Amino acid sequence: MRADAGRSRWSTTRRSALFGGLCLCCLPTLGRSAEGFDLQEVGPGIFIRRGPDAEATPENDDAIANIGFIVGDRSVLVTESGGSLADGAWLRAEIRKRTDKPISHVVLTHVHPDHCFGAAAFAEDKPVYVGHHALRAALDARGEYYRGRLVEILGADRAGSVVYPTLEVTDGAEVDLGGRAVRFAAHGAAHTNCDLSMRDSASGILFPADLLFVTRIPSLDGSLVGWLKEADRLRAMRATKAVPGHGPRLVDVAPALDDLTRYLTILRDETRKAIVADVPIEKAVRTVAQSERDRWVLFDTYNGRNVTQAFKELEWE
Ligand SMILES: [Zn+2]
Repeated sequence: MRADAGRSRWSTTRRSALFGGLCLCCLPTLGRSAEGFDLQEVGPGIFIRRGPDAEATPENDDAIANIGFIVGDRSVLVTESGGSLADGAWLRAEIRKRTDKPISHVVLTHVHPDHCFGAAAFAEDKPVYVGHHALRAALDARGEYYRGRLVEILGADRAGSVVYPTLEVTDGAEVDLGGRAVRFAAHGAAHTNCDLSMRDSASGILFPADLLFVTRIPSLDGSLVGWLKEADRLRAMRATKAVPGHGPRLVDVAPALDDLTRYLTILRDETRKAIVADVPIEKAVRTVAQSERDRWVLFDTYNGRNVTQAFKELEWE
């Protein structure tokens, strides 16, 4: 999701839910009963729920990102908190079904609401909330706006609240869960300006969060040129498997990064061409990167916005 995630669309979603006569308090059950909406163990002690390739709706509780947890000998790290208080509470309950070890860390991978609004569900665990050093400022700028939009869709009691990081990663950091360590890397502006990735030492699995989209079209909210650079950095980590922010629970890193890089490169090159040819932005949003249309879910929802973002970044090069 993005900062300008379309006020009218969010409102429409809320309205249609009300017109449908749906009872909000019953909706989580509807969402959770969807096929595949469960945690699977993708590596030893690593449990991941796949988020559907969808936008936030009352039916899905904004549970649209890939979230989960890692169990160490001593404690549990939550890899992503979920998209709402309801989603975070669901995850916490699932953790408690599997282990009674303390939940020591909750990772806030970046500012987008589908990744950080579940954080408040873990308050009673008093975890360390891990985030990029720029996350606090990003939450100051957007947190209440995001909360308001979620309240419109889910209602105040399910939306969640803004939670700030208590461990702010400047460059790198490491957390020991007992028998396994998780290493964090704070990235330069890419998907957003506060992207945090991590890697589990026991399995070697990479958690790039929304620096890696699979199936669902990447959404650009940081820097296009920067994202291509950070994709190279991820590649250089030489992990073979990754849990992307959106898409299948576990993917091969190389082909997934190739797909991401192909889209971002086409977006960059065709936007540059449009700028040089004096194509107005209103036309560019309909023409740039159209060859990618059949390769990504939600292409029509996000590609035009990506072009607008790319245009703003590249027109002053
Ligand atoms: Zn995101």
